[in-house]
Amino acid sequence: MSGSPAVLMRLVASAFTVAEKAGAIVRNVLHSGELGIVEKTGANDLQTLADRVAQQSICASLSKRFPKVTIIGEEDLPAEEIKDDLIENGQAEDILQKTCPAEYTGLKEEELVVWVDPLDGTKEYTEGLLDNVTVLIGIAYGGRAIAGVIHQPFYNYQLGAGANLGRTMWGMLGVGAFGFKLQEVPDGKRIVTTTRSHSNKQVTDCVDAMEPHEVIRVGGAGNKIIQLVEGKASAYVFASPGCKKWDTCAPEAILHAVGGKLTDMHGNAYSYDANVKHMNSAGVLATLRNHEYYISRVPQSVQQALK
Ligand code: AMP
Ligand code: MG
Ligand code: MG
Repeated sequence: MSGSPAVLMRLVASAFTVAEKAGAIVRNVLHSGELGIVEKTGANDLQTLADRVAQQSICASLSKRFPKVTIIGEEDLPAEEIKDDLIENGQAEDILQKTCPAEYTGLKEEELVVWVDPLDGTKEYTEGLLDNVTVLIGIAYGGRAIAGVIHQPFYNYQLGAGANLGRTMWGMLGVGAFGFKLQEVPDGKRIVTTTRSHSNKQVTDCVDAMEPHEVIRVGGAGNKIIQLVEGKASAYVFASPGCKKWDTCAPEAILHAVGGKLTDMHGNAYSYDANVKHMNSAGVLATLRNHEYYISRVPQSVQQALK
């Protein structure tokens, strides 16, 4: 008889339903019409009521079930009592049924770090570019992103009323990734995806240096990783600081689970330990294939500027 599932599988199974609950919050705030927008560091760094309440829901739900896990959320929020209706207790049964990779079966709660971006693509959310929005819950062990959930609350919104809104993807190293169909950009075609609201000359110079056949500018780190695994883009290139660990942890885990790679502009991995600095100061380069090509094209000036 098999015992109860490993902590890691239970954590991902909870993160799956918790992300869906957060997505419902993100949709409800939009429909209420009261976004409660606050500028954090400036007009391109926003927080809404949806960011705040979704993070409260995610962090309170996960810490209730996994009190020893370190949970780091993007938003700075006052410590307050969380209402019962924000707590999600469900678990995705199909994830609990999966076999935990042998190297992770013995992991303890206190060894795991969860990085939470309750709403990735806030700027786009406030502008109605709803498919750019994702909820990101990444799980790290030993500094590595090993599992993640990406929920897209407005998936299918272009289909109009009556459409089944939202979808959830998850992945784990050694298990695979689920909730989407893995596709690749045709061989030899370079489609670069990059920021639409945090650009500058260095960012565009670096994109140009990749000699892309096509450039896509969209919001959200989660959204751009979805483009990579669904064959819409070959590389996510962001030669600037600004992206944080909660933006990249879940996306990196899912990308790595299907053989892709996410690094800084030098080709070095980021660490997701609890005590690392939050900023991905040396930029983000992510690919499903041919990572070395894109690294080799990064201009020296960019490499020198991004430490
Ligand atoms: P983007 O591709 O512009 O949507 O950025 C991906 C993620 O990084 C989002 O969560 C952004 O909020 C964040 N980000 C990137 N650049 C900046 C910046 N200059 N200031 C604040 N957040 C940023
Ligand atoms: Mg974000
Ligand atoms: Mg966010």
